[in-house]
Amino acid sequence: MKYVYPAFYPEFSCLADRCRHNCCIGWEIDIDPETQNLYDQVDGPLGNRLRESICDGHFVLRADDRCPFLNDRGLCDLITAWGEDALCDICHDHPRFRHFFSDREEVGLGLCCEAAVDLLFRQPSPIELVSMGEETPTAEEEDFFALRERLLALAQNGSLPLAKRMARLLSLTGGTLPARDWRGIFLSLERLDDGWTNELQPLTLPADIPAGWEDAFEKLLWYFLYRHLRPEAVATTTALAVVSTQAVASLFAAGEQTPERLAELCRQYSAEIEYSDENTARLEGELCDLPC
Ligand code: SF4
Repeated sequence: MKYVYPAFYPEFSCLADRCRHNCCIGWEIDIDPETQNLYDQVDGPLGNRLRESICDGHFVLRADDRCPFLNDRGLCDLITAWGEDALCDICHDHPRFRHFFSDREEVGLGLCCEAAVDLLFRQPSPIELVSMGEETPTAEEEDFFALRERLLALAQNGSLPLAKRMARLLSLTGGTLPARDWRGIFLSLERLDDGWTNELQPLTLPADIPAGWEDAFEKLLWYFLYRHLRPEAVATTTALAVVSTQAVASLFAAGEQTPERLAELCRQYSAEIEYSDENTARLEGELCDLPC
């Protein structure tokens, strides 16, 4: 079995009580059966509190949308009492995403977490993938891994303007960015935070990368490719990476251009789009008539 991860992955550390957008607020947290079984066996006040706080396999959020175990200091009472082993799979794994192949597991850090955004943008170029272990991939997987390596290298080829790299990515995979009412499409997607509606108002695609920000958008493009490329839909998922990079660029160009605002836009885009299977599928649906 081979494990693959970005070289910066081991540096990740949760901001805990210093996080401004704590992932224990506003998200419904499902509890996996193994952890539920563990919680069922807990006695005493904490056991009672667990049973009162769980309904239909998930934590019931408080009226203020906070997880019932997130205390006023921004810390998790379960971790404080038992350590990280007491967490359910989702809490333990967040903000990691995983891709599974026949003999390989790949992991990355999702940008809905502000610590992950900060870590990505602090990386020197090029970002490398690290692998551990051996694998026996299928022939199709081998082709896909080789193609993806080319695409990730192209995305980070600093001798070309980023706009040209994105155009080449599309032509290499057989895609184009179709003419659509992209603003209307994004506005029609399901919403996590109503404030996202206002952010989307200036959206226009295709969009230029704002001058002086190529390095940051290169990393964003790398992230979207690594996160979304799938062997069975290379053209569509490459186009999704390009659309996503340009969508963030378009919103960023319309307002104050600071590192803090770019980081916040990336976090919002990830939370609103990437963490909704429905929204990602809708966008892929708009792109899937590309020749594959
Ligand atoms: S969003 Fe990231 S930094 Fe914030 S609490 Fe969650 S994992 Fe930690």
